[in-house]
Amino acid sequence: MYTVRTVLHFYHTRLRYLTETWIPLVSEHVYFVTDSLPSNITTIKADHVQFTKYCSIQSHSLSSLCCKTAHHFLLYHRFKHKYEWFCHFDDDNYVNSKNLKNYLSKLDSSIPYYIGRNSWNTTLYRNKNPFPIPFWFATLGAGICLSSKLLHLLKPYTTNVGHFIRGCIRENYFDDIYLGFIINNFLNVTLTKNEQFHSHLEKTLFDNKENFIMNLANQITLGFRYPDRIPLFLPLVFSDDPWRIRLIHCLLFPNSNECQVKKIR
Ligand code: UDP
Ligand code: MN
Repeated sequence: MYTVRTVLHFYHTRLRYLTETWIPLVSEHVYFVTDSLPSNITTIKADHVQFTKYCSIQSHSLSSLCCKTAHHFLLYHRFKHKYEWFCHFDDDNYVNSKNLKNYLSKLDSSIPYYIGRNSWNTTLYRNKNPFPIPFWFATLGAGICLSSKLLHLLKPYTTNVGHFIRGCIRENYFDDIYLGFIINNFLNVTLTKNEQFHSHLEKTLFDNKENFIMNLANQITLGFRYPDRIPLFLPLVFSDDPWRIRLIHCLLFPNSNECQVKKIR
């Protein structure tokens, strides 16, 4: 199950590029958490959207992000009978679904797994109760994947939106840190670090053209930030490709429909 966090005002600058690149390859399994969508969208099925009626709109605050993440779990609990894995992405992530499926297929979803890229290169220091012990957390901006077993253990914390938000506020942790805290300290499951996940927080991802191109086919996610964290060294082969995401997608999946129909300049 792929869930994508977005917001109406990012539709044209972010989500649209995803719905025209990686999403069509797995659209049957992609779900969205958003305040709203443009009214004329036909590519997204209504029952694949979780609207966040009660989250504060257009805000990057702790409670608003925790509210959105809590809605991702509501989606999971609605559709869990269909899925062994749940992966949470942002709308500035490119996901190589083939590599992701290949990686997860080698793991046993009946074991609790918390998978992602550690946000910092040290554990998060914690000296307050409960559990005054440091822990690792994965940045949501690079995408995270949880096994069905872990989701089952997380149930007491994730079935009620208000309860999840109050937990974030009580601990004063953003959604990804709060999640890491619960998983490590309440459930005793440590992060399985995966360096094939990337967020735009990584300063060096697009620094070296040769490295980037050489390793592109091995990555699971990429993270973009316009205008400074994009592989500008890639040529503008397609029109309307500010992140070069169409080109990246077509280099990885040259036979996909999206790559057949686009006009080359
Ligand atoms: N986001 C949201 N509501 C907002 C602002 C952002 O749901 O009002 C989402 C956004 O679509 C993205 C995620 O939160 O999926 C993180 O936002 P952004 O990438 O802008 O920030 P950063 O990655 O720098 O934390
Ligand atoms: Mn981001």
